[in-house]
Amino acid sequence: SSEMWELDPEELDLVKEVGSGQFGLVWQGQWRHLKVAIKTVREGAMSEEEFKEEAQVMKKLSHPKIVQLIGVCMHRTPMYLVFEFMEGGCLNDYLRSHRGALSPETLLSMCLDVSEGMAYLESSNFIHRDLAARNCLVAEDRSVKVSDFGMTRFVLDDQYTSSQGTKFPIKWSSPEVIKYSRFSSKSDVWAFGILVWEIYTEGRVPYENRTNTEVVEDLNAGMRLLKPRMAPQPLYQLMQWCWKETPGDRPSFAVLLHELASMQEG
Ligand code: ADP
Repeated sequence: SSEMWELDPEELDLVKEVGSGQFGLVWQGQWRHLKVAIKTVREGAMSEEEFKEEAQVMKKLSHPKIVQLIGVCMHRTPMYLVFEFMEGGCLNDYLRSHRGALSPETLLSMCLDVSEGMAYLESSNFIHRDLAARNCLVAEDRSVKVSDFGMTRFVLDDQYTSSQGTKFPIKWSSPEVIKYSRFSSKSDVWAFGILVWEIYTEGRVPYENRTNTEVVEDLNAGMRLLKPRMAPQPLYQLMQWCWKETPGDRPSFAVLLHELASMQEG
C-alpha cells in the first residue's frame, strides 16, 4: 500500500540546505544511520495525488546508477521526498567547477555511468522525460547517477511542462517531443546525446546564444550541435546517432551502453 514508504518525520533530521529545485528547497539530512537528501514540496508545486500513486513504482526502481528514492513523508506539509545523498552535487555544476581537470577517461566513464542507469530505466519501461546534466548527480566515489526520473509529470507549472513554456527544456527535446509531446525511451536517447555533449564541453550550455525558436528552426533544417573539442570522433558519431530525426533510427540505451563500454576497452 501507499503507507509502505511513509517515513516517520520524527526519524528525519534536516541538517542543512543544499539547493533549491522545481518543487522547493533541498536539504541534506539524516534518516537513521543514513545521510539523505530531503526534497521539500512547496504547496501547489506538485500534483501530489498522482505522485503518491507513482511513488510506489519509483520506489521499486533500484540500480547503482540511479539515485534511490528511500521514502516519503506525505502526511505532512510541506511533503518530504527522501533520496540517497550525493556528495558531489549536480553533474552540471561539477563539470563547470572541474574544468580543465577532467581526463578523457573520466568523461567517458561519466557517459558510461549514465548509460547504465538509463539502460536500466529503459528495461523497466520507465521514461525519464528530463534527462540532462542538471538532473544527474555525482556520488562520493565520483560515479554519476541519474536523478529526477519521471518527475516532470507531477510539476504543476505550465511554463515548465508545456513545450511552449519558457522553462520547457527545448534544447534537450527530440523533434517528436517538441511537436507532439511524444515521450519515449527514444526521446530519452536524444536527450542523452545532448548530455554527452554537455559532458565533453565540461558543462557548456547547448546552442548557447540561440533562442528556443531558433533551435527548433535549426533542428528542422537538419542542423545539429558541433563536435566538442575534447570528444573523439567515435563519440561524436554516437551523439549524432542519438539525434536522428526518426526515433526508430536512434540506438537503444542497451546498444549505447555496449558501444561506450567497448570504447572504454579500446
Ligand atoms: P529539481 O527538482 O529542480 O530537479 P534538483 O533535483 O536539481 O531539483 O535539486 C536541486 C539541487 O539540490 C541540486 O542541484 C543539488 O545540488 C541538490 N540535490 C538534489 N538532490 C540531491 C541528492 N540526492 N543529494 C545531494 N544533493 C542533491
